Amino acid sequence: MVPASSFGRRGALACGAAAFAEACGCGARFAAMAAEARAGGGPAVDPRKGYIVMPIRDGLFYLGDGGYNAMFLVTPAGVIAVDAPPTLGANYLRAIAEVTDRPVTHLVYTHEHVDHIAGSGAFPGDVTIVAHRSTAELLATRRDVRRRPPSLVWDGPRHRLEVGGEVLDLAWHGVSHSLDTTFVHAPRQRTLMVVDVVYPGWMPYKNLGVAVDVPGFCAAHEAILGYEFETLVAGHVDRPGTRADVETQLELLRDLARAAERAYAALSFPAFLRDHPPDPRIPGRSSWELHDAYEHALVDRMAAEIGPRWHGRLAGIEPYLRDNCWAMLETYVVQGAPAL
Ligand SMILES: [Zn+2]
Ligand SMILES: [Zn+2]
Repeated sequence: MVPASSFGRRGALACGAAAFAEACGCGARFAAMAAEARAGGGPAVDPRKGYIVMPIRDGLFYLGDGGYNAMFLVTPAGVIAVDAPPTLGANYLRAIAEVTDRPVTHLVYTHEHVDHIAGSGAFPGDVTIVAHRSTAELLATRRDVRRRPPSLVWDGPRHRLEVGGEVLDLAWHGVSHSLDTTFVHAPRQRTLMVVDVVYPGWMPYKNLGVAVDVPGFCAAHEAILGYEFETLVAGHVDRPGTRADVETQLELLRDLARAAERAYAALSFPAFLRDHPPDPRIPGRSSWELHDAYEHALVDRMAAEIGPRWHGRLAGIEPYLRDNCWAMLETYVVQGAPAL
């Protein structure tokens, strides 16, 4: 992996908060919180409390701790929680208790990753845990008691979860961020939850959110935009997203892809070796080690080209841009150009 360098300066800005407040319809409460907007545009979390909960619409709530987020739907028959990040832990149940005294009856997993569901132990023992077959099969191999096994396993591409007259449409659109990424759509609430794909207001986490399949990760953006929604719960960072956040990240991916093509066109490995002749007697100068130096040179080109365009548009450029450049470069070598 190419280490993060001291490329550029962090683009601290308050983008998107006002747009989100308008699109989300959360009203004055969110608008007031947005006034305290931080780098990615979200409201600050009170560190003494450790979480923030706010209504999306029609019984659906957003819950976050500034780094991780999730959502829960209050129905007449009980509460459906989606994901259980361990950073939220017991605060998840405190947040629910702030808005309803109904019990949590269902817990839906978006995918198997520890950092999004290993807080499942905080939920009642009799909660129905809902997961796609691929998530259930992966969890069966993990031997991790923090991630409770699902009790309602669904197969195929779609499953409709109905509780107390409310609906969540679950869908598996193929391998993307993970092998088992599940989309959770609340049609009446015009909200979609897809985790670890889009980072509203921010540069994606390293290596395009550690996507297991970058072409699938890119395709997931188009799948997201195929839904009817106004609010996106994305699993990370400090606010919910909108369609505009998805389109912005798609634009970033296209930028990364074009820059990767240009970097390869401008500098081939043989050309790099002509300027840096291998010498296996010198540490770091074998052909194989020079390949790493070659990738550093490509990343330098990409970051220098792209960075100035994204400073001021997304936060987190400095820590994450270079790793995302590398992930796109490697995709071209290993899987070919993603469809963008
Ligand atoms: Zn994940
Ligand atoms: Zn994540």
